[in-house]
Amino acid sequence: MSVRNIQKFLDGPVFKAVRDVADSEKVETYVIGGFVRDLILGTPSKDIDIVVRGSGIEMAEKVAAKLGRLKVSVFKNFGTAMFRFRDVEVEFVGARKESYQRNSRKPIVEDGTIEDDQNRRDFTINALAISLNKDSFGEIVDPFNGFEDLNEGIVRTPLDPDITFSDDPLRMLRAIRFAGRFGFQIEENTFEGIKRNKERLEIVSGERIVEELNKMIMSNKPSMAFKLLDITGLLKLILPELQDMKGVEEKNGQRHKDNFYHTLEVLDRIVPYTNDVWLRWSAIFHDIAKPVTKRFDAKLGWTFHAHNHVGQKMVPKIFKRMKFPMNEKMKFVQKMVYLHMRPIVLSEDEVSDSAVRRLLFDAGDDIESLMTLCEADITSKNEDKVKRYMRNFKVVRRKLREIEEKDRVRNFQPPVTGEDIMETFGINPCKEIGDIKAAIKEAILDGDIENDRDQAFQLMIELGTKLGLKKESQR
Ligand code: ATP
Repeated sequence: MSVRNIQKFLDGPVFKAVRDVADSEKVETYVIGGFVRDLILGTPSKDIDIVVRGSGIEMAEKVAAKLGRLKVSVFKNFGTAMFRFRDVEVEFVGARKESYQRNSRKPIVEDGTIEDDQNRRDFTINALAISLNKDSFGEIVDPFNGFEDLNEGIVRTPLDPDITFSDDPLRMLRAIRFAGRFGFQIEENTFEGIKRNKERLEIVSGERIVEELNKMIMSNKPSMAFKLLDITGLLKLILPELQDMKGVEEKNGQRHKDNFYHTLEVLDRIVPYTNDVWLRWSAIFHDIAKPVTKRFDAKLGWTFHAHNHVGQKMVPKIFKRMKFPMNEKMKFVQKMVYLHMRPIVLSEDEVSDSAVRRLLFDAGDDIESLMTLCEADITSKNEDKVKRYMRNFKVVRRKLREIEEKDRVRNFQPPVTGEDIMETFGINPCKEIGDIKAAIKEAILDGDIENDRDQAFQLMIELGTKLGLKKESQR
């Protein structure tokens, strides 16, 4: 992109205001980092980072006043200030120099020049700055050839990668995230640096690691990042259960599929259908128990018996270790893992109403997510097989709609309550009440009666009579 083109992009009110203030105050001012990278790639972002040779806070306040008395949030401890203008967020900071100590990601910070500031950036493509001062407005300041790396699609550290990654090991994950997001290559020396420094990840908090992983998962082709995590050795440290899925074993001429690559395929396949990060995580975890449940049976071949059940139990342990939230999101992932085979099994034979009703009952409001996961899970190379499954899934979806309309089992509420039973038979709380309620629910799910109060009431009386109970009115 030429300077003239860049100037065109910097034509808006924010950059004009910054330029005017920078000029009247005579402060060197630049836009830097991710914004410049994305601008050159042709996808300008809504996050603007401004670096000044002086006080970022003072600059922010002056620019905000010029734009119309915007509210400025000041973070004194960090020497930064930010404001929102329409849908963009603009952050100001004084140029700084950083030095690191061995056991912490927190650097010692001093005031510095724009070069110092660029030196502390993680990758050449993230270290580009564009001048906002009048006489050099729009000129790129590019000490590490980041412009060329952007054009060639290369992620490279500006300094010795051993220093960059050892100083702040989170950058190893950032390198992989950017490579995955833009489809870039990690330059060889940088790549080797990640491999050499992978153990340094131990000084990064679980929450920060999860934040990076979530961003990788939200990219358009997350498998790329996961493959890089694998070959750099980071995956083994972060999520060994996923790494364990890698590989194919052969016995008596029978091979099972490589569950690691299958999982990544499912993950990529689900991307166009959901932006829910937890459904995407469910794709990652759906077969997580395959390695621990794998057996070879002379008659059946390779089996992964109850891997959905075992997988569901592994999820909380992994969530706890990785510092994921242990809340309803985790329960959702567990549910997806547990139920992930049900629609497939169900559509293998003729799709029966009662099986669909039971599925709807078990999945509840998450039925759509479950169907999305299942459709993504069909990765067979056999086109006829895929077509057959997809056709059956259509039938399942149609039946789900019909049955829900008729029977409303998605958020099942018993049509006859315990109170009803106690009142009708004049009894106190006892085991029989639970038995009757369970039998009514089963009858509805099997399709023997409809989810209807009259029919359920009738059945309740029949069941109670069988149990030797007498109606109040007959006493
Ligand atoms: P995105 O917003 O898409 O994650 P970004 O590059 O804008 O990408 P930020 O985390 O907002 O990411 O960081 C802004 C800039 O700050 C980066 O472009 C980079 O120059 C610098 N930066 C961020 N984190 C680090 C880090 N850990 N080490 C060095 N520089 C960093």
